Amino acid sequence: MLSVEEALAQILSRVRPLATERVDLLAGLGRVLAEPVRSTRIIPPWPNSSMDGYAVRAADTRPGGALTVIGRVVAGALPERPIGAGEAMRIFTGAPLPDGADAVVPQEDVDASEPKVTLRGVTERGAYVRPAGEDVRVGDLVLEAGTVLGSAEIGLLATLGHNQIEVSRRPRVAVLSTGSELADLGTEPGPAQIPNSNTYSLMAQVMEAGGVAINLGVAPDRLEVIEERIRRGRDADVLVSSAGVSVGDLDLVREALVAAGAELHLWKVNMRPGKPITFGSLGPRPVFGLPGNPVSAMVTFELFVRPALLAMQRRRRLERPRIHAIAAAPITNRGSRRGYLRVSLEQRDGRWEARLTGDQGSGILRSMVQADGLAVLAGDTAVAKGEAVEVIVMRELSR
Ligand code: AMP
Ligand code: MG
Repeated sequence: MLSVEEALAQILSRVRPLATERVDLLAGLGRVLAEPVRSTRIIPPWPNSSMDGYAVRAADTRPGGALTVIGRVVAGALPERPIGAGEAMRIFTGAPLPDGADAVVPQEDVDASEPKVTLRGVTERGAYVRPAGEDVRVGDLVLEAGTVLGSAEIGLLATLGHNQIEVSRRPRVAVLSTGSELADLGTEPGPAQIPNSNTYSLMAQVMEAGGVAINLGVAPDRLEVIEERIRRGRDADVLVSSAGVSVGDLDLVREALVAAGAELHLWKVNMRPGKPITFGSLGPRPVFGLPGNPVSAMVTFELFVRPALLAMQRRRRLERPRIHAIAAAPITNRGSRRGYLRVSLEQRDGRWEARLTGDQGSGILRSMVQADGLAVLAGDTAVAKGEAVEVIVMRELSR
């Protein structure tokens, strides 16, 4: 059976980056930059003061020395003249340093009775001066392609005058749920029915991964209906289905994918939950047949579909952060498959503690609700209380 790493490598080897599009700067928040950005500006453009005080020549400064104040310069104005020996200029934060000056003495460090200021000490060259280009110089590579744009990146792009930026298009992901037992949202489940949750958890995961989710609804366990729904998802960039991928008589998704023209590349991965995941190509489109149990569907999405969607958006880093946490109570993985166990994470005494969120049954969605991450355990292993365990962090820990 394939390992998780082998399966992911196969998947990533078959996904291609999508086209790019230009968007307004703020619409780029959370999107992936599609081109490297080099600076065409020097920031700050000229040396300027970081304090309110007096622009001086450092060589003129000594305790008790007096300088003649020859003018003032405020932010948004240019100095009217250079300063010479024995002279100073009143200056405010962000104002350009006058020629001749090479330091600023903060106003709290002088005794001022203008037009004279008396210094209390020696000021070093460069003191309280922000040199031209200390932030960015012309030609600097400031952002690499593949960077996710956060607030700092948006600010830097604004500094460089980018009204619009080139980002990768969002993948359109069609989501199909299969199973004759499913009652969709809006209908009360009948006597032998269960509510459809996968469509919604998976669509939400698509959106969290930067994609646009398209709902293909629920198909009963009938080959021709599933096949027809798969064909309906043809406009999408990716198709994700859930359920019907095991070995039962009514597990028809693989057959339906093939009937719709897909080529299947892999089936069954050495993991729990989620072993029977299927991956294939329908023309240029990656298709994922995820298992039906609500937790299996979410975990296989997390491990396989999410990285594929990020790669299609050109993200450089595809992996979630992994940490070593301390088991707050024993964590056991029964069975030979590698386990991905739902844990909550809590910081105690400067360390992260991991604790199972409850019963690990693959149908227990509530234990996913409380999960901050997935503890990764080899088959048939147990981590004792106080021992370290590797955890894939799935969400922000400051909730
Ligand atoms: P299957 O992979 O078709 O054998 O389904 C495994 C389990 O997941 C069964 O108990 C199904 O009823 C359940 N299941 C399948 N699809 C969904 C869904 N969309 N929402 C909630 N549970 C589902
Ligand atoms: Mg089924």
